[in-house]
Amino acid sequence: MIARDLRSGVEALGDMIAEAQSIVPFTGAGISTETGIPDFRSPGGLWTRNRPIPFDEFVSSQEARDEAWRRRFAMEPVFAAAKPGRGHRALASLYKAGKIPAIITQNIDNLHQMSGFKAEDVIELHGNTTYARCVGCGQAYDLPWVKARFDENGAPDCRVCSEPVKTATISFGQAMPEGEMRRATELAQHCDLMLAIGSSLVVWPAAGFPLMAKNCGAKLVIINNEPTEQDDVADLVIRFDIGETLGPFVGN
Ligand code: NAD
Ligand code: ZN
Repeated sequence: MIARDLRSGVEALGDMIAEAQSIVPFTGAGISTETGIPDFRSPGGLWTRNRPIPFDEFVSSQEARDEAWRRRFAMEPVFAAAKPGRGHRALASLYKAGKIPAIITQNIDNLHQMSGFKAEDVIELHGNTTYARCVGCGQAYDLPWVKARFDENGAPDCRVCSEPVKTATISFGQAMPEGEMRRATELAQHCDLMLAIGSSLVVWPAAGFPLMAKNCGAKLVIINNEPTEQDDVADLVIRFDIGETLGPFVGN
């Protein structure tokens, strides 16, 4: 069912939330646009400006690494200024109320943690851009460490094993994180309400989780201002602004 207007959508969503025992949100870049972080596929989104740098190119080319870090530092004022929006805060309220056991996200912006989710309850399918890791040994680095070296000699290598240091995100061509995939699978299989929020649902395998939940018997709600390929199987589609839709669920 596609909600006719925002009000009836919010009402139907409220009923489904009230009935549910275990709600698992699956979030994408759209939940963060109101915080100032652009998404990928909207007009003016990041993709229209920059071609993503695949993992093998990052690893094999100093030039690609320099470009990747140049872009990352160019975005830093935006990431640093971003505060959780209404969508993040509404989900954090439901988490505090015990309705949400954990959240699956494609986002890399750390805003679910900032809104009040414990880090271990945020399943980051695509990693996190607010810190860095060595692609060889996994050693974590903070961004000021990277920036200091980048400003001197370009993209730095790991001081433990000399492999390249990358934001702690999953690039195209890089393997999905196993533990996160396993936990997301368990969550999708055991929830009774899945909320897919602000994702174009075209990036796989991540986009498989809403479908998986639906196939395992959960109800599926899609909140996104543009149509998605999974709208047909959803129990409720709310094609309105995420902040407007979830604002009423922000608790005190
Ligand atoms: P996407 O850009 O493919 O899709 C975002 C969707 O959200 C679009 O369909 C857009 O129309 C919708 N949307 C944007 N603002 C909205 C709003 N206020 N209300 C309702 N709908 C809104 O994003 P995706 O599916 O998450 O895939 C992009 C990939 O890029 C992700 O896997 C993620 O790793 C990465 N990414 C992350 C961030 C972030 O962390 N904030 C930002 C950009 C890209
Ligand atoms: Zn290393």
